[in-house]
Amino acid sequence: MSKSIKARLYVENDLCAGAEFLLNGNQGHYLVNVMRLKAGANILLFNGRDGEWLVEIVKVGKGKATIVVRDNIMAQRAEPDLWYLFAPIKKARLDYMVEKATELGVSLIRPVLTERTNLDHLKEDKIRAHAIEAAEQCERFTVPTVEPMIKLDKLLMDWPEDRLIMFCDEEGDQDPNCFSVGKAIDEVNAWQERPRKWAILIGPEGGFSPAERTLIRQQANVVPVTLGPRILRADTAAVAAITLWQSFAGDW
Ligand code: SAH
Repeated sequence: MSKSIKARLYVENDLCAGAEFLLNGNQGHYLVNVMRLKAGANILLFNGRDGEWLVEIVKVGKGKATIVVRDNIMAQRAEPDLWYLFAPIKKARLDYMVEKATELGVSLIRPVLTERTNLDHLKEDKIRAHAIEAAEQCERFTVPTVEPMIKLDKLLMDWPEDRLIMFCDEEGDQDPNCFSVGKAIDEVNAWQERPRKWAILIGPEGGFSPAERTLIRQQANVVPVTLGPRILRADTAAVAAITLWQSFAGDW
C-alpha cells in the first residue's frame, strides 16, 4: 500500500468504476474520526470478488464517508483453498490464531468442539471481525469464511470426500506411519486418485482424547502428521502447520 493511501478496507458492495456508496458504522468511524480523512482522500477497497480498487472519498459526514470507486489496482487472484480447523482456546490466543491463520492464507476458519475444549460458546462475529482486520492489513484479496463451531464427531461424519485432513498429532513423532508435513504431502501426491483439497486439524491445549485420536485416524481422508518431537502450544502448532503446508502445497 503506497504511503499516500491511509486505509484498506473490506466491503461487501460490488466494486466497479463509478460505483458510489456510503461507509458508516465502524468503517465510517475509522476513516473520519480515527484517520481523519477528508473529501479528496484515496483509500483501497476489496470485496473478495472484484480485486482491489482505488476509491475516493467524496463527502465526509459525522462518522461516515461517501466514496466513489475509481480504478482497479489489482485483479482478483486465486488464493489457496485450505481449511483451518481448531479447538478454540482462551481469548488472547484465539485472537492470535485467527489473525495468523488469516495472514498465512487459510480460506476457511472453523472452531471444533472436542472433549477437552474448555470453551463451549464462541462469538463467531468476533472471529470474523478479527479475520477481516487481518485480511485488510496483510493485503490479501479475500477474507476467510468463518463457520460456526461444530462437534468433532459431527465434523468427521459429514466430511466432504474431496478434501484431506492433515491431522496434527502431537504423539506422531514416535509413530512410523506419521510423517512430517513435507513427506506426507509427497506421499499423498503419489496417490493415483486423491482428494485435491486440504484442511489442517489442530487440537486443544489439553490435546485430543485417546478416543478422539482413534476416531480421527479411522477416517479415510485423514493424513496424520508430526510437527517434530516437541509439544507445541495450539497457536504455535497452527502457525507451523499452515506455514509448512503453504511451502509444500500452497502459494509460497
Ligand atoms: N496433549 C498435549 C498438548 C496438546 S498441544 C499436552 O497437554 O501435553 C495442542 C495441539 O497442537 C495438539 O492437539 C496438536 O494438534 C498440535 N501439536 C502440538 N505439538 C505437536 C507436534 N509436535 N506434532 C503435531 N501436532 C502437534
